[in-house]
Amino acid sequence: MTNTRKAEQGPGRATFPHGGGERRIVVIGAGAAGMMAAGRAAERGAEVLLCEKMEHPGKKLLVSGKTRCNLTNARELDGFMGMYGPGGPFLHAAFRRFFREDLLAFLERYGVETKTERGGRIFPVSDRAEDVLTAFRAYLKEQGVRLRTGSPVTAIRTEAGRVSGVQTSRDLYPAAAVILATGGATWPATGSTGDGYRLAAALGHRIVPLRPALVPLAVREISLARSLQGVSLRNVRLTAFRDPADGIDPGRIPENECGRGIGGRQPRPPVIESRMGEMMFTHFGIGGPIVLLMSLAVVDALAAGPVGVSIDLKPALTPVQLRERLQRDFDRHGRRQFRRHLEGLLPAKMVAPFLALTDIPADKPGHQITASERDRLAGLLKSLRINVKAPLPMASAIVTAGGIALEEVDPRTMASRKVSGLFFCGEVLDIDADTGGYNLQAAFSTGYLAGEGAADVVLSPDASAREGHDRERTGIEVAGQEPETFLRREGAS
Ligand SMILES: Cc1cc2nc3c(=O)[nH]c(=O)nc-3n(C[C@H](O)[C@H](O)[C@H](O)COP(=O)(O)OP(=O)(O)OC[C@H]3O[C@@H](n4cnc5c(N)ncnc54)[C@H](O)[C@@H]3O)c2cc1C
Repeated sequence: MTNTRKAEQGPGRATFPHGGGERRIVVIGAGAAGMMAAGRAAERGAEVLLCEKMEHPGKKLLVSGKTRCNLTNARELDGFMGMYGPGGPFLHAAFRRFFREDLLAFLERYGVETKTERGGRIFPVSDRAEDVLTAFRAYLKEQGVRLRTGSPVTAIRTEAGRVSGVQTSRDLYPAAAVILATGGATWPATGSTGDGYRLAAALGHRIVPLRPALVPLAVREISLARSLQGVSLRNVRLTAFRDPADGIDPGRIPENECGRGIGGRQPRPPVIESRMGEMMFTHFGIGGPIVLLMSLAVVDALAAGPVGVSIDLKPALTPVQLRERLQRDFDRHGRRQFRRHLEGLLPAKMVAPFLALTDIPADKPGHQITASERDRLAGLLKSLRINVKAPLPMASAIVTAGGIALEEVDPRTMASRKVSGLFFCGEVLDIDADTGGYNLQAAFSTGYLAGEGAADVVLSPDASAREGHDRERTGIEVAGQEPETFLRREGAS
């Protein structure tokens, strides 16, 4: 294709690209947040152009929830807010204006029925993320939003401290308001390559260092990980410590789970987080649900020093109960070889590595196993300790932690506090959440608010005046700055 820039749809009230732009909004990025923002701004009566750098909108939406799109969560509001850590309070106003029920009603309007699954996760009944994207396309078309794909934005233009337009690789689009919805820096093949951080930083915004979140972890004991590759563990307790593995005191494993989104007590140092659930071993280390949930806290702790994890393979038993149970088994099946005993305790693939770790001969009969050997085995089953080396790189994370500093954004409108007429929404903000539909809900809610805020600015001269005209010209080309500029080195391998 020679001309990659194309107006994909929409009857188009706007006369882009070369009009004056007094009442126009340009939205940068056609992901969950940008599509919602564009549709809502147009619904309020603004002329809206949606610039997307990829050939198609919503690429990340399509891969979300393993292509089933976990849209939001049924959890009540307080618990919901807890899933965002420090970013939670910032979202109050956005959730008050547009929350789960509004999202579900909106989708229903466009033919998407939803269902609730385990953990309150809400999906389309069809299990197809594609249906969600189709709904958004219909919304954009209905509202007359012009979608321009294959149009990467390279700079946001400003004059006298307020936005004046947007520069793409080919055109300059005048605009009275701009909504930056470029997403994070993970899964770059979906288009989220961190451009928004450069665009915002070029206009003087502070970028909270980017870190990968919801990401698998590489470990130092690589040969152990490889020997356990593919082993999936259910109902185990994973506890991360601000200590190297051999410095972990299993006596400090908290009685209850603790970590982001878990009510009750905060983890007490040196514990970072402790979670029950499912995890797996991979060729590089550990992954799976509880590892992903714990990963951001681990990434942040790794910036300060070594991190070790302890895996309790028998969390239902206390150390004393486990020792008694092992002893009973050894007594009852005294002639049975140690290997066979292990087979009754562990997944098949874990037996050989455990034999090596316990240093007990595989053919030793149960009745010959000494008390100290039994205790060594019990200790390993209650606390298999491993050193975390680093998270996998940003590209493999589910979300980007860090981003545009929230104190520079008005939570009631998503407006920049630094540049008039500039709005933000979605993952480009310093907001990230646990798995469960929370990241998409934040994108939809902040997108809705940004759309309304921007529409207010372009449609009401008073709002424009309030925004002030006393800032200096700050339009800056951003080519040449790499997203790595904003990565915190220690946190990103
Ligand atoms: C594999 C995977 C699965 C996920 N599953 C879920 C899930 O089930 N539930 C959930 O809640 N969250 C999920 N997430 C997270 C969620 O998808 C994101 O947080 C959410 O999509 C962010 O929306 P956004 O609109 O801010 O950014 P994005 O969806 O990333 O959209 C940003 C858009 O901006 C465009 N863009 C970037 N730079 C430019 C530029 N310079 N010019 C023009 N356009 C540009 C990009 O091409 C992209 O289309 C998942 C993430 C991944 C990677």
